[in-house]
Amino acid sequence: MRKPLILLTNDDGINAPGLRASLSVAKEFGEVVVVAPDSPQSAKGHAITISDPIRLKKVDVFEGVEAYECSGTPVDCVKLAKHVVLKNRQADLCISGINHGSNASINILYSGTVSAAMEASLEGIPSIALSLLDFAWTADFRQARPFLKLIVRKVLEKGLPNCNLINVNIPKLTTAQIKGIKVCRQSDSRWEEEFHEAKDPRGVPYYWMGGDFAATDMAEDTDMWALKNGYISIVPSGHDLTKYDAIDQLNEVTFA
Ligand code: MN
Repeated sequence: MRKPLILLTNDDGINAPGLRASLSVAKEFGEVVVVAPDSPQSAKGHAITISDPIRLKKVDVFEGVEAYECSGTPVDCVKLAKHVVLKNRQADLCISGINHGSNASINILYSGTVSAAMEASLEGIPSIALSLLDFAWTADFRQARPFLKLIVRKVLEKGLPNCNLINVNIPKLTTAQIKGIKVCRQSDSRWEEEFHEAKDPRGVPYYWMGGDFAATDMAEDTDMWALKNGYISIVPSGHDLTKYDAIDQLNEVTFA
């Protein structure tokens, strides 16, 4: 039996320690091809590059692993992987991350990590977005390793029924402290944002976004509850944003 082909990408850039962490797990399961941004691309969501050239450069940074750095967004990386790097080869799995920082709750909408996995899932590739709740460049990704191996093994063995994408978030805890894995819905919490206004050296005002994440939906079936209570959260997701339960009402009430 041939080894599974695993496409690896992220949004923190090809040099991010989180990518090395997922690469070391992925290598145990199959042939890995890395296509990742050449610079940090966090919070780029599902952006694609259509008005600028995109550069793709083969790099020798991971021993024995075919790897490319790309000047585009995380979704550009997946598109180039499909059309230029893998061509007629279909990946058996896409792993995006491990991201430095949470992509729980509605952060799934802003996340380049999740969007890269989403793009691969659009192509029918079972995809795993991985994030650790630690923004530090020096974050300890080893603690989650046994759980990551379990998740990758299960997805390769059994596939992802009724979805092609799972959004996995990992609490900042030791292996022993992590209680296990919970399949959840995404919490409906929000950012409380504020824009700091300042002036540049020429006296022209500019704005810098800041803020805190408000855990307003901590119900027991949410990813944020699971993470707060020591579990790895797994949210099944997908690209179809239709609210099916609203179709009848819109037909019968609003547009009747
Ligand atoms: Mn990131």
